[in-house]
Amino acid sequence: MQPLNQYQPQPNELQGRVILITGATDGIGKALAIAAATLGAQVIASGRNQKKLEAVANQVTDPSTLPMALLPLDLEKAGPADYEAMAEAIEKNFGRLDGLVHNAAILGERAPIEHHDIQKWLRAMHVNTNAPFILTRHCLPLLKKSSDASIVFSSCDIATEVRAYWGPYLVSKWANEGMMRMLADELSNSTVRVNSFNPGTTNTKIRMQAFPAENRDAMQKPAAVTKGYVFLLSAHSQGMTGQHINNN
Ligand code: NAP
Repeated sequence: MQPLNQYQPQPNELQGRVILITGATDGIGKALAIAAATLGAQVIASGRNQKKLEAVANQVTDPSTLPMALLPLDLEKAGPADYEAMAEAIEKNFGRLDGLVHNAAILGERAPIEHHDIQKWLRAMHVNTNAPFILTRHCLPLLKKSSDASIVFSSCDIATEVRAYWGPYLVSKWANEGMMRMLADELSNSTVRVNSFNPGTTNTKIRMQAFPAENRDAMQKPAAVTKGYVFLLSAHSQGMTGQHINNN
């Protein structure tokens, strides 16, 4: 397979696909929402800030694209009723889901385990790992209604490495790899595939929080890493499941 950063999506590559993206208000999720809409998808852009969601939707000005559906959902605070309402709204408006991208994440605190603030740990684990589980749980009936559905977890280098003091960010990314592989196995006889994608170093808010001294200008921009997600969401990745894919 060619490196994903050299993959060139065709125009309308995602036409007819209904794709839910979390963390679509900033960074990679925002760039992906815009790219997917431009490639013909019906994007359901989810985020915790309604104004930022509207601003993302307004960036797609091509009249031939489908207007984004906006799904305000704070993954830290959402309860069962919010997830049920979300699934009902998607069912009512679109009847199914063809793609689900677990992109939203927070860095959380980095500290030795023995000094870790417990509430901060729980908060990061909830946003990064529990919320993708709950969202998947509610979306699976909709994904199973698609003839070709794809779930993508946003992964990173530390999902396969050990680094001291990285706290819940590292643990949640390892957990998500396990969830991805387990879910792929559970769904191996279905039309739903499940993979994770590591976009690599990208100039975003979370990257700056993690590495404030890095040279931002030398980093790839969020729009540059969307191709890999598009590949995993498109028909080109049919049959691929349970894989951890690196961008480069
Ligand atoms: P980012 O710019 O900080 O974006 C994070 C997104 O998650 C934002 O839209 C943020 O919303 C959202 N979010 C945070 N907490 C939320 C909550 N409680 N409810 C709903 N949404 C919430 O970072 P990014 O780099 O684009 O990160 C996207 C993914 O890529 C993450 O999973 C990250 O681990 C992964 N990744 C990034 C890099 C990199 O170098 N940037 C490398 C490898 C992997 P707000 O706009 O409201 O803050």
